[in-house]
Amino acid sequence: MNKPVSVPEQFDAVVVGAGFSGLYMLYRLRQLGLSVKVFESAGDVGGTWYWNRYPGARCDIPTTDYTYSFDPELEKEWTWSEKYATQPEILEYLRFVADRHGLRSDVEFSATVTSARWDEPEQRWRITTGHGQEIRCRYYIMATGCLSMPKSPDIQGAGRFAGQVYFTSRWPHEGADFTGQRVAVIGTGSSGIQSIPLIARQASQLTVFQRTANFSIPAHNGPAPADRLKQLGEDRDGYRHAARWSRGGIPVEPTDVLGVTASEAVRRERFEAAWEQGELFGILNVFADQGVNPASNDIVAEMIREKIRSTVQDPGTAEALCPQDHYFGTKRPCLDTSYFETYNLPHVRLVDLGKQPIVSITEDGIETADESFGFDAIVYATGFDAMTGALVAADVAGRDGLSLKDKWAAGPSTYLGLMTAGFPNFFMLTGPGSPSVLSNMTVSIEQHVDWVAGCLEDLREEGFETIEPTVLAEAGWDQHVQDCAAITLYPTANSWYMGANVPGKPRVFLPYIGGVNAYRQACDEVIAQGYLGFRMTGPGGTRCRDGVIHRMQPDVAMVMELVAAMGMPPMDTLSAADARALMAATAQTRPPGPEVGEVTDGVIPVPAGELPYRLYRPAAPPEGPRPLVVYFHGGGWVLGDLDSDDPLCRDLCARSGAVVVSVNYRHAPEARFPAAAQDAFAAVQWVDANAIELGGIPGQLAVAGWSAGANIATVACQLARDAGGPHISGQLLICPVVDSDMTRPSYEENGDGYILTTTLMRWFWDHYADPADRGDPRAAPLRGDLEGLPPACIVAADFDPLRDEGVAYARALEAAGVPVRLARARGHTHTSVTMVGVVISGAPVRAEIGEALRNFFPSAEPQEHVS
Ligand code: NAP
Repeated sequence: MNKPVSVPEQFDAVVVGAGFSGLYMLYRLRQLGLSVKVFESAGDVGGTWYWNRYPGARCDIPTTDYTYSFDPELEKEWTWSEKYATQPEILEYLRFVADRHGLRSDVEFSATVTSARWDEPEQRWRITTGHGQEIRCRYYIMATGCLSMPKSPDIQGAGRFAGQVYFTSRWPHEGADFTGQRVAVIGTGSSGIQSIPLIARQASQLTVFQRTANFSIPAHNGPAPADRLKQLGEDRDGYRHAARWSRGGIPVEPTDVLGVTASEAVRRERFEAAWEQGELFGILNVFADQGVNPASNDIVAEMIREKIRSTVQDPGTAEALCPQDHYFGTKRPCLDTSYFETYNLPHVRLVDLGKQPIVSITEDGIETADESFGFDAIVYATGFDAMTGALVAADVAGRDGLSLKDKWAAGPSTYLGLMTAGFPNFFMLTGPGSPSVLSNMTVSIEQHVDWVAGCLEDLREEGFETIEPTVLAEAGWDQHVQDCAAITLYPTANSWYMGANVPGKPRVFLPYIGGVNAYRQACDEVIAQGYLGFRMTGPGGTRCRDGVIHRMQPDVAMVMELVAAMGMPPMDTLSAADARALMAATAQTRPPGPEVGEVTDGVIPVPAGELPYRLYRPAAPPEGPRPLVVYFHGGGWVLGDLDSDDPLCRDLCARSGAVVVSVNYRHAPEARFPAAAQDAFAAVQWVDANAIELGGIPGQLAVAGWSAGANIATVACQLARDAGGPHISGQLLICPVVDSDMTRPSYEENGDGYILTTTLMRWFWDHYADPADRGDPRAAPLRGDLEGLPPACIVAADFDPLRDEGVAYARALEAAGVPVRLARARGHTHTSVTMVGVVISGAPVRAEIGEALRNFFPSAEPQEHVS
């Protein structure tokens, strides 16, 4: 008799994991009428709350917020007993949700997926489980959690210990009794800090082995906070909506108080309030700049260290417990209950591994460089292979057999943290590149699940069977994730956010730090733009709108919010005089820009009279002449003066090592076209003729400008070429106006809402030039003869109406044989790149500008250091 051929079971979707994300995913997929199988390696639902049962395990987000919101009835039927609920209570909650929605029937417990292969001809995933089952599914969804793969104990001799061994991440269900025992705890992250005070209550002797001191604040646990309960009671939907559109997934009003400028009294008051509140998002929001400015961060960090010193009685132990090696917040801060107080107990000792590292675990204890310790039990609270560990361990192979592990060998690459190219129909819930661990997880989980469910519904409705991100879209998102992290202090720490806790793991910032709100908007926009950056296939064909989802840099977005909050009248509703006064007033409040060697003011005699200039000389060394850069400020030919672009000129001077001569020119409407252009050319001629007197090197002269200043800078280049001199070595054009055609797509996209509006641009043109003159190459240099112009560096900002004309100018110059460097200011507006000392994310662009300027003068000296 022939052996029966086993037919693999077929499901529309397979989900791995039955924690918060897996359970809700199952619920939503069922709603769509899809057949679903969930595999869960644990014996019950709960995910992280199933495994992390160590004493003291609690959530560190107020439980009123750490809860599902998809079913309002759940909130009516479940009341959290504490501000920060315990692990058993949270596990009970997840069981309650599973029961209430009858979810368990589709979950196979104690079952692990051992491999998943994309079957191209079948357009399905082939899944194998540890029980030997073979399953086919259309969609494969990882709900495996961010902190679920324990880090193996990377300590010499770890297997040798003959006593009891515990891992906080895999605590025995029957619990552990340390009564009368000598116990070691290795690790002082959240798990260690939560469990140490409780272990100390039982142990006869507790020794904590600390590699890195961690910041922790008291949780001040107690009943669920009355103010939140009140808000939820009065307007539950409003509250949940606010959470979804907040930065961290909890409705917290972001502060605009800067640590560096706040008075001592304000600093102290804000810090103490956050300390008393005992919430992560409070202590991370003492100052607006604490995540980006070391000086501001130090204020908060030092105040926490003061608290530690005043709590821990032994000064040596207190000092060892004071974190010194990372900025506050750049490693996940902890919330504790009596953690530091525990070190005042006579039977508790801290061993600072910085002073005496562990040499080996032995059969009966731990040997450090200085001492041998005997123990009955060792507790490893050593953390996780975070965010990617569970995903790459799952043996996933996509198109052409590409394994996820190999694809991510140099770090994860995802589109929106949801999918990755080469792996069709493979979804990650709260994957790397999404806010996940930097947010209230439940809010991020619901958002991801809703996005995936919506996507599957759209695929079905439109007759598609597969979806996969494009390489271009994914690269754009990866870049944005790293851009956002780069402006913060986070990448400086050896944290698990950076993969730094796992030996050999690539150092890449794993979560998305741009905020839950910005992230949600990006995900929504991708759909609104017809699944931008995704390729969808089906029997009816393929659809792909390839492209990058452009996001504003978070600090640019913050500045935009602040500007909006100031409620200033639109400039185009003002007279030229009032607009100038407004611009001058706002210039008063800016940081001054970097120090330079010398700043002097003077005047340039030109046919029309005298033009004021300001000269910036770089700090020595070297002494002696430098190349010259003639700079023209922005302001639509109407606004601006020597003060308006002063910080930018200092920055250009310091970065380029050149003498920068910033020239004021006649403004419209008093002096209309072509006055500004004529002045620019006359100024260039004068600076060239007086190079030696100005401390310049004769013949080494470039022009530069921003916006309308860039317009007259490049016009001066055209006029100089036509006049046979002076020789100009290069032109730096920052977000230039080069044409009067306002119909390019960037006007359509960015003409409203990004400070320089279409209306304002029209107002500028109306002040400057008659319509009949606007096609003249001295007003619209893009329309001129571009041959023989100096090499150019053009900055084009994503959210600038002028972006496309800048790009068009770059292309046209190239076509005319002019060497061009196009610097894309990703996530920037027309103005933000120039906001020296305010918009940190502009610094890399300005570094590129500085390099371009130096390259105009190959013999010039290296630049000063500017961060
Ligand atoms: P963790 O924050 O990564 O902490 C691990 C600790 O073990 C660190 O102190 C680490 O030192 C130390 N360690 C690791 N390897 C070591 C080695 N070979 N020798 C000596 N020490 C070593 O892990 P976790 O405490 O489990 O927490 C992980 C994350 O889970 C938290 O950041 C948090 O997001 C989440 N969590 C939350 C809660 C909560 O309150 N709800 C509770 C637990 C966990 P280094 O710092 O030097 O690497």
